[in-house]
Amino acid sequence: MGERTTGERERVLRTLARGGFVAPGAEADALLEASSEGVGPIEDLVARRLRGEPLAWITGWVRFCGLRVRVDRGVFVPRPHTEALARRAVELLPAAGIAVDLCTGSGAVGAVLGSARPRASVVATDLDLVAVACAQRNGVHALVGDLDGPLPLSLRERVDVLTAVVPYVPTEELHLLPSDVVANEPRLALDGGHRGTTVLVRAAEAAARWLRPGGTVLLELGGDQAGEVGTKLADLGLSEIRVHQDGDGRDRAIEARR
Ligand code: GLN
Repeated sequence: MGERTTGERERVLRTLARGGFVAPGAEADALLEASSEGVGPIEDLVARRLRGEPLAWITGWVRFCGLRVRVDRGVFVPRPHTEALARRAVELLPAAGIAVDLCTGSGAVGAVLGSARPRASVVATDLDLVAVACAQRNGVHALVGDLDGPLPLSLRERVDVLTAVVPYVPTEELHLLPSDVVANEPRLALDGGHRGTTVLVRAAEAAARWLRPGGTVLLELGGDQAGEVGTKLADLGLSEIRVHQDGDGRDRAIEARR
């Protein structure tokens, strides 16, 4: 790295540190890289970040399970804690199997499945047109519509793995999210209604309709939602219910077999 570049990095890093960012070095590097790739002048990129815009929207991508996943402005940013769900889904998907990813957003989970199981069929859906376009740019076969609404009937009871990272933040707790998340990221991707389980319950019902006997559903969740969602999955006739914890020891996903 040349002297001028080192000085520039120092300047960007100090600006971000003063702005209260907890990983100013890593963010400075990401912004400088994006700027050198032609995204825009570094001053503009730093200014956007200081206003709280997600880093992934500024750089245009995030690393997810080792993949460079495109994240267009306006699309929910895939979270590191979702990588475990994606890896578990890969384990469960046969080489030439069928996977469905509901509420796909950027298509991160679908992209991981497609990359790890290139002979499998992966179909994704999302309500948001901008998200669907983004998922398609990530190479995911994504369809516009509500949950399982747009899935082709030919997949009925044939799906090996159904994943969904639905909005699951309780409406009454949305204000507790980090302020830059609330200010920038789409509410549609976060607001899970009362108790946060409205869409989770509907995704569980969709899983019961589309999974093959023996197929598995994996739903991300939070807080104390595993109890209610587990009961719902059992009521739908699914079994072998397992709750997965994240790195902080909190319930983060639920798995069940049809
Ligand atoms: N707490 C989660 C997050 O911000 C909520 C994600 C969601 O509802 N899909 O990472």
